[in-house]
Amino acid sequence: MSLGASDFYPTVSAADPELAAILDRELTRQSSTLQLIASENFTSRAVLEATGSVLTNKYAEGYPGKRYYGGNVFVDRVEELARDRLKALFGAEHANVQPHAGANANAGVYIGLLKPGDTVLAMRLDQGGHLTHGSPVNFSGQYYRFISYGVTPANGDTGERIDLDQLSDIAKNERPRLIVVGATAYPRIIDIAPLREIADSIGAILMFDAAHVAGLIAGGVYPNPLGSSEHGPNKGADVVTFTTHKTMRGPRGGAILSTSQYSQALDKAIFPGLQGGPLEHVIAAKAVAFLEASRPEFANYQSRVVENAKVLASALEVEGFRTVSGGTDTHLLLVDLTKFDPELSGKEAQEVLDAAGITCNRNQIPYDIRSPFITSGLRFGTPAMTTTGMGTDEMLEVAALIGRALRERNNEDTLAAIRNEVAILCSKFPPPPFV
Ligand SMILES: *Cc1c(COP(=O)(O)O)cnc(C)c1O
Repeated sequence: MSLGASDFYPTVSAADPELAAILDRELTRQSSTLQLIASENFTSRAVLEATGSVLTNKYAEGYPGKRYYGGNVFVDRVEELARDRLKALFGAEHANVQPHAGANANAGVYIGLLKPGDTVLAMRLDQGGHLTHGSPVNFSGQYYRFISYGVTPANGDTGERIDLDQLSDIAKNERPRLIVVGATAYPRIIDIAPLREIADSIGAILMFDAAHVAGLIAGGVYPNPLGSSEHGPNKGADVVTFTTHKTMRGPRGGAILSTSQYSQALDKAIFPGLQGGPLEHVIAAKAVAFLEASRPEFANYQSRVVENAKVLASALEVEGFRTVSGGTDTHLLLVDLTKFDPELSGKEAQEVLDAAGITCNRNQIPYDIRSPFITSGLRFGTPAMTTTGMGTDEMLEVAALIGRALRERNNEDTLAAIRNEVAILCSKFPPPPFV
């Protein structure tokens, strides 16, 4: 790649060559190795520019029309634009675009709708749930009483789905105040209708954590968890949280959508309950991302993301790997390494692939016998490489490279050769900001 940081950040290069040199190397890394981490993406140049805008200079505690500082006339317009675009995108009654991250969006929901010690039912962490769904090392698990549901046992391409019978039984016995659905490592579509029924049967609030799938929803390739007219009014989740930087392809950040019933409690929870001044430069970039997500090109992009993930999953099966649940409906897939080689852990596989220029993350598989630090699985996602323009032919090539790297993992020459092939492939698909 002949372009470097100085071409994109000329002022940084002049003011701080030491930092510019590090940025330069990161740009090269992002554009010469395969980015298959399911929660990552490449934002557009417009999103990058808005994130770097003068709005970073402004304090704006409060909400549009109700700020604690003066001088917010234009900031208010930026935040209103982001909120209005987001509400239109999901057909939501209420939106809060201030959460600094997905974790903050979830914290805002818990603070706004629960009391410390309340019972929450969420997905088991080793079966796809997120740290903020009750991990003992996270505030959620320390301040609330989390209990969990899991997935059914492996069974070709019908197992490893959310166990609705188990979820319903636990809900009826434990009567949680809140049910959390949505996951960080679950490859299948979650139908909100049966969950709404279970929540209604015990009077629980239903939250959908769309951190991973928000972009798929906006692109129309995943059902809207707020419910659709086909389900009748209010047949979906009461609250939807998500991150703006995963499939949504915006700046790093979070957002909350809800019915008007919960709007005030949620707004108060985010500010002044949890956060101080909002990051209005990031909110400006969220507005750009929501505009981009409303375009037909975005829907087309999301369907290619899913198509690429399906092709990558079946090509990896051909290489001898088992995929959890037998494939994927979404942008991500989980590979169970135990069939390929029972000796190979997720940790070792991730390190081998790193050496071969293939970036992914290790992940527990359902009923994993190894710890979360070691694991027996790998998680792959296609959002980032699809943004660069890669299609199904490239996914076949990527699967073959992964198989070869892991089969010949003790041969350093092979890994170096693969790293070279990866760089050649990537050079044909430059990511933003190179395009
Ligand atoms: C990524 C993720 C989050 C947290 O997002 P951050 O921006 O990293 O705080 C929350 N929930 C789920 C399901 C996620 O996958």
